[in-house]
Formats: sequence, C-alpha cells, structure tokens
Amino acid sequence: MIVFDNVTKYYKSNVGLEKVSVRINKGDFVFLVGPSGAGKSTFIKLILKEIDATSGSIKVRGREVTTMSNRQVPILRRNIGIVFQDFRLLPKKTVYENVAFAMEIIHQPKKLIKKYVPQVLSMVGIASKANKYPDELSAGEQQRVAIARAIVNRPRILIADEPTGNLDPDTAWEIMQLLDQINKRGTTILMVTHAKDIVDKMGKRVIAIEKGRIVRDEFGLYGYAE
Ligand code: ADP
Ligand code: ADP
Repeated sequence: MIVFDNVTKYYKSNVGLEKVSVRINKGDFVFLVGPSGAGKSTFIKLILKEIDATSGSIKVRGREVTTMSNRQVPILRRNIGIVFQDFRLLPKKTVYENVAFAMEIIHQPKKLIKKYVPQVLSMVGIASKANKYPDELSAGEQQRVAIARAIVNRPRILIADEPTGNLDPDTAWEIMQLLDQINKRGTTILMVTHAKDIVDKMGKRVIAIEKGRIVRDEFGLYGYAE
C-alpha cells in the first residue's frame, strides 16, 4: 500500500527524514510514534505529496508519488482519508452535511450521497445526531463525524493524526474500537500518536522514528520513554 525506499527529506539544513525504507501492506494497522520533531508529520506529508522528497522512492498503491504530476495528486489524495486531533469539521454545516460535503466535492451523484451518508453515520454510531451542528456534539461525537467524513468515499488508506489527542481515556478507547472495526473491513490504517497506553493495549505494529530515522519497527509496545 505504502512503500518508502531510501527516502530522505531535508528542509534546507534540517533533517525531516533520512534514508527511510518501510513497507505498509494492505490491511495493516500501524502506529507511527516518536518524539516531537522526529519526522512523523514529514512522513505523512510525503505520502500525501504535500511536500517533495529530497531523494528516494515513495509508492502509494503501486504508484510512484515522487514523480507524480500535479494532475494526478487529487487522485492520490482521494484514496487516502485523514482525521486530525482537532476534528476540523465545518461549523456551519450539520453532521449530515459535513459528511455529504466530502462526496459533493468529488461530484458523486446525489442518489449515492443519500445512500452512503446515512450508512456511514450509523456505522460510526452517530446516526441520531445527523441534524446537529458540530458545537452541539461532544468531542468523541465530533471525532466520529470526522471519521465518517474520512471514510465515506471508501479510501483504501486512513491516516489518523493523533485522533485521540483531545479525548478523555474512555472516549479515546471507543474511537480506537471504531478505527479497529474500520481496519477489519479492509482499510489500511496509519495512526500517529503519543498515547503510550493505547499503543500498548492495541498490540499492533509500531514504527518508531527519532531524528528522521526508523529506530524500531515491531509488533507490540510503544517502547520509548518521553
Ligand atoms: P514531528 O511531526 O515528528 O513532530 P516533523 O516532521 O514536523 O516532526 O519535523 C521533523 C524535523 O523537520 C524537525 O526537526 C522539524 O523542525 C523539521 N521541519 C519540519 N517542517 C519543516 C519546515 N517546513 N522547514 C524547516 N524544517 C522543518
Ligand atoms: P507536530 O509536532 O504536530 O507535527 P509541529 O509544531 O512540529 O507540529 O509543526 C507544525 C508545522 O510547522 C508543520 O507543518 C511543520 O512542517 C512546520 N515546521 C516544523 N518545524 C519547522 C521549522 N523548523 N521551520 C519551519 N516550519 C516548521
């Protein structure tokens, strides 16, 4: 799904990533951990082609990203859903409209929108809040809406950037169960997190980076002290 081969990213004199090679397979659930400044955002921005690598090869779903034309970038991004720590919902749209909007911007037919939006809202457990506005929801509910929006177009890959960072432990764990369920339905998940307890409890693959380099890649524990 995502293959980095000897990828280096320099920002002038700063090291973003250095000689990173890694393979994330279809259906994987992977945690990306490391201290602030380690290169986690750089890794994600390279996958989305928000920034260009200095050298190396990056393949997403078999397509080389580093040489991709501007015209192909929207197609790349259409296959990657993203959720953030701060939800980033549109405040003047309802829950339903927030999710529908993700389909409208890629010109999906109205009929399909009417079919998929209720489906995905009930899948994430928020169907009863369809007509509420984001500020009428709890943080956990807002994150469910953000997840619904990220998966409604059925991307193969879901990137979650500290998705539990603004949630209390119980709500965070509910969101993890939801992500696990989405992963079991076949979506590859890459999650950036500092939540040691969650990583340890989930028992998934953990890629640890420090100073732009992969320092550990194995199943199980978070594995470093901050
Ligand atoms: P993380 O997401 O793990 O906190 P980043 O990928 O944001 O790490 O940063 C990795 C390194 O690259 C850090 O040293 C950071 O200061 C540097 N960096 C990131 N973005 C830029 C930029 N736009 N210009 C210069 N240096 C940058
Ligand atoms: P995070 O740790 O959540 O990735 P950061 O505070 O490291 O957040 O980075 C926030 C933004 O600033 C990112 O877009 C990153 O690329 C950019 N950035 C980080 N370090 C630098 C830097 N030294 N110079 C310029 N931009 C930077």
